[in-house]
Amino acid sequence: MTEYGYPFNQKAGRDLFPQRRGGFQISWEELIMVKAIVGANWGDEGKGKITDMLAENSDIIIRFQGGANAGHTIINNYGKFALHTLPSGVFYDHTTSIIGNGVALNIPVLIKELNQVVSQGVPMPKLLVSERAQIVMPYHILFDQYEEERLAGKSFGSTKSGIAPFYSDKYAKIGFQVSELFMEEAELKDKIERVLTQKNVLLEHLYHKPLIDPEETYQTLMEYKEMISPYVCDVSLYLDKAIKEGKNILLEGQLGTLKDPDHYPMVTSSSTLAAYGAIGAGLAPYDIQKVITVVKAYSSAVGAGAFVSEIFGDEAQELRIRGGDKGEFGATTGRPRRMGWFDCVASRYGCRLQGATDVAFTVVDVLGYLDEIPVCVGYEIDGEIVKDFPVTAKLEKAKPVLKTLPGWKCDIRGIRNYEDLPANCRSYIEFIEKELGYPITLVSNGPGRDEIIYRGFEK
Ligand code: GDP
Repeated sequence: MTEYGYPFNQKAGRDLFPQRRGGFQISWEELIMVKAIVGANWGDEGKGKITDMLAENSDIIIRFQGGANAGHTIINNYGKFALHTLPSGVFYDHTTSIIGNGVALNIPVLIKELNQVVSQGVPMPKLLVSERAQIVMPYHILFDQYEEERLAGKSFGSTKSGIAPFYSDKYAKIGFQVSELFMEEAELKDKIERVLTQKNVLLEHLYHKPLIDPEETYQTLMEYKEMISPYVCDVSLYLDKAIKEGKNILLEGQLGTLKDPDHYPMVTSSSTLAAYGAIGAGLAPYDIQKVITVVKAYSSAVGAGAFVSEIFGDEAQELRIRGGDKGEFGATTGRPRRMGWFDCVASRYGCRLQGATDVAFTVVDVLGYLDEIPVCVGYEIDGEIVKDFPVTAKLEKAKPVLKTLPGWKCDIRGIRNYEDLPANCRSYIEFIEKELGYPITLVSNGPGRDEIIYRGFEK
């Protein structure tokens, strides 16, 4: 690294930018890459596959948000895996897998998944867990179930993994950090008492359910401590050192832009944006140099919320069955996903909020059965055509404006060069690239690790 001293020369340009941590400034050539892999849609875009693929040239892969409520499906030389908590880099023995502070950490689920991966022949992954990650408590899962029951038909469609109650408690400052497992017994018991007093009032008077015993909760936390102890570390400090040593780092997002609680409220409880990657891993915002935004060639979604380009009936079922690797069914829950045509309005918004430097366009192969492929290019709201993603109240009223593109009617799996794709397939990709306004540099034409077409992607 070259030291230019402080204050930085602010003159932007490839030679001098970006200024970097700790009073150092490095040249573009020396730039160390932190790449974020995030979704532009509603999740299930194939981030796991892209992460698994890029992990080959990476040292560290970090999960920075979300919990065990969604999953990545990965197919590689060890077999097929549904990962809910472990980063998708666990399959290489040269990588370190990290659970960042922003994750909703379900300790038994993490350990179960670790054991499962190992039992399927994967070498024991190098795993680190942030001491600042907070813990999903057994009562978070109960509260999630009880609240869904209480809301009955008006529920949000939670996966009941305790994620919403977990994040509520985190921001209400009554969550438990991993580091707190190592507190003095009396101090920890005191905190448990305080938190459970509040929880038990709700259990008794709102939900009419059995109360929670503080001693039992303490014992559970001691079991969690034993399980997690070998992996706990100061992740932010570890990453600071790793960056200074020139390591390649991947941040792996869960879900997608259209589930972000700020930008499309009510669908998940933690930010799904690359920007949050810095917070949820303990990095600086300017550390993230590349935002690989995964965009799916058609739409699918789970849970409640407006879904303008949604399709129904036989048309939806056909796409659902053909979709992804083995149909569009939840990796965690198995429930059928809602299906729709590609939505340019939502995906452009999705890419913009992620700050896409690259678009990885996935599952293009699945569309090979269609004579014509409808694409949603605008929303009609109260008689007006809208191209920019509106607020939720307006979104509820939106009707899709569809444009139909010709299909290519053949199997494109196995193709490795962009030019070898059928002309109509290239036209579809290029039409969408133009609508998005962000470069499609990767095209994924199959679930496997090497089923990828490079289109100007800089590794
Ligand atoms: P993630 O949460 O974004 O990682 O997405 P999921 O794992 O839930 O869903 C993606 C599904 O699509 C998985 O079953 C993948 O194996 C599969 N997949 C990923 N890329 C492709 C692709 O290019 N073609 C096909 N057919 N399947 C893909």
